[in-house]
This record gives sequence, C-alpha cells and structure tokens, in this order.
Amino acid sequence: MAGLEFFQFPTLSDNYGVLVHDPASGATASIDAPDAGDVHKALSEKGWSLTHILVTHHHWDHVQGIGDLKSENGCRVIGPADEADKIEHIDETVSDGDTFDFCGETVSCISTPGHTLGMINFHFTDSGVVFTGDTLFALGCGRIFEGDPAMMWSSMQKLMALPAETIVYCGHEYTQTNARFALSVDPDNAKLVIRAAQIDALRADGKPTLPTTIGEELDTNPFLRASDASIRKVLGMESADDAEVFAEIRKRKDNA
Ligand code: ZN
Ligand code: FE
Repeated sequence: MAGLEFFQFPTLSDNYGVLVHDPASGATASIDAPDAGDVHKALSEKGWSLTHILVTHHHWDHVQGIGDLKSENGCRVIGPADEADKIEHIDETVSDGDTFDFCGETVSCISTPGHTLGMINFHFTDSGVVFTGDTLFALGCGRIFEGDPAMMWSSMQKLMALPAETIVYCGHEYTQTNARFALSVDPDNAKLVIRAAQIDALRADGKPTLPTTIGEELDTNPFLRASDASIRKVLGMESADDAEVFAEIRKRKDNA
C-alpha cells in the first residue's frame, strides 16, 4: 500500500482542516468542514477531489461547510451517531468501536465524550494517525461543554492508550496559550520547558505547532498527567484520585 497523505491547513480564526488522500484511488476525505471555501482551496492546491467528510462533532466551526461541499462534490458524510440529529447531511453514522474502510485502511471510531456528548475521534490504524477533534489538543484538552470532568478524563484515558508514536491532529491551534497554562501547573517538567520554547519559536514564524504525538502529549500535556507527583504537589492533591486531579486542572484552565 502506497500510504495515505495528510495535508493540514489553517482555517477560520484558529481552526485546522486536514485532508486525507489516497494516491492509489484518488479518494480524499476532509476531517470536519470548518469552512467550505478553505477546504475547496486546499483541494485545488493539492489537485485532489473530495469524496468523504468525517465529522468529529456538531459545533459550527466543524460542520458549517458540509452542505456546500456535499452539493459541489456529492461526497459521503460520516459522523457521530449520537449527534446525527444536530448535524445535517450525514450519510452514515458511527459509534464507539465501529470501524470502516477508507481505501483499504481501517478507520477505528473512538467515542470521546466531554466537550460534546457524541464526539467521535477517528483513528487510522495503519497510518498511526488519530483525529481528536476538540477532545485532545496539543498541551491541552477541550472545554467540557456537555459532559462532566469524569467523562472527559475517561475519554483522555482512551487516547492515552494509543501507541505513543501515534500522530495527533486536532481542531485548533491553541498550543501557545496551553503551554503557558501547562507551565503554571508543571513548572519543573524539563521536556515541557523545552517544548514551550519551541512552540514560541514556531508561532513567531507563523508556523503550526501541530500535528503532535501521543507520546509527546504524555510527556508534557498536564491533562494527561493527572498521576504525576510534581503536578499533584503543585495542586496540593497528593492523595486525590486521577479523575479529581484532572478535574482540578480543567477548572484552573477554565479560570486562567
Ligand atoms: Zn468544538
Ligand atoms: Fe472547535
């Protein structure tokens, strides 16, 4: 198998779109549809034609382009079963544990409720790539709009269990702000200090900080490090359970 190509592009104020392309068949999937015009521009730049849209969750900045793209391209729209009533133009719904085939590669659907209740993340198992929508960000995680912290923590744990080398694409470029907050709860983490400086340099050059990897997040993202002794010490929560520590980190970030 020649392997899938992944093309990330900035869109809206701080979103990313990603195209997944199979050179053998010509099929191309857009992960979410933040803006039809920008997806279209990315497709023309690469010379690819859209055949699929994979939708992570129902928020407007992930779905608003679906209608226009579908009427232009007649593409197949795959999205979360639990949010199908909130997302127009879905052709096929998926739930936790479902798999489907994309050009010979297995895509495994991971439900990660918390930011929204029906959120689905798409794991391209052969490529070792996961699309985490607004669940896991570089050095951060999504705000908990519909679920509760315990739910979001168990969603984090599902992603933490993926192989460390798994490449992570997510919905937003929030990394620099996230890094500042991460340093406030994990100031002695040498890997985080180095990464924060790299992020500042990338942003100063106008470059993306994504994709990231599960391994890099495990080392530096405080939302995956609820069990870490030095973070617990900073929070004064040495004997709390991981879900409580996660909830406290989320609360502090909300109020930061
Ligand atoms: Zn969202
Ligand atoms: Fe979003």
